[in-house]
Amino acid sequence: MHGEVVSRKKIIAGNWKMNFTSQEAEVFLKKLVPLVKANMNSEIILCVPFVDIELAKRETTGTNIKIGAQNCYFEKSGAFTGEISAEMLRSLGVEYVILGHSERRTYFLENDKIINKKVKAALDENLKAIVCVGETAQQKEWLETNEVVFSQVSAALQGIKAEDLKNIIFAYEPMWSIGTGKTANFEIARRVCAYIKKIVKNLYEEQLPSDIATLYGGSVNAKNVKQILSKDTIDGSLIGGASLDVEEFSEIINIAEAIL
Ligand code: PEP
Repeated sequence: MHGEVVSRKKIIAGNWKMNFTSQEAEVFLKKLVPLVKANMNSEIILCVPFVDIELAKRETTGTNIKIGAQNCYFEKSGAFTGEISAEMLRSLGVEYVILGHSERRTYFLENDKIINKKVKAALDENLKAIVCVGETAQQKEWLETNEVVFSQVSAALQGIKAEDLKNIIFAYEPMWSIGTGKTANFEIARRVCAYIKKIVKNLYEEQLPSDIATLYGGSVNAKNVKQILSKDTIDGSLIGGASLDVEEFSEIINIAEAIL
């Protein structure tokens, strides 16, 4: 099995970013839940704002939809005003957390070291970390994608044990494609995801039962998701803008399901 590209269930992760009050979230989820079949093969995750977590957990109980957060702090507790710990998320029943999103890297100056600490904190609480990596427009122009991805992936995994890799998903999200309507060339996205799997394999000297899961994110919608998910090294997608439209998001889920 070493190093094989395994066919796993597709992962569709929505990232609401800083959108939806609890009232709006409730309206969305009451519409979404009946649209999502109970026995789906795909893994459906909704990463909601902290304040919507309790409600989202309640509204999705007994469904296939898992709830994630969009960030957490790396310390366990203490004088860190405004922060939320991984333990706090776990105690609410959160299963996933996005870490290292490009908006966190850009607007909140999160660097690879901070992201690595957050990954460790999340894993310590048995959360699954969706770790985002990807190049800027300028780095793309300078043909530095592989270099950037290599350094972000290896930094995120510093000190992480091989046995914990099953709880890490990498999302390749070119920064220039997020929220811009510009998707990466799908063949390039396929290659970058293959490269991420290879980096992890090399870092752990092939000691892996299967490849790490890799998603593509960046302006994915109901029109292009089929092409993206058809690529063998792309295990799913992280979806921002299109996850805010309940009809479109459920259409994306149904497309993912039909690909299996
Ligand atoms: C994201 O927020 O991770 C994302 C990919 O956003 P969008 O789909 O809007 O580009």
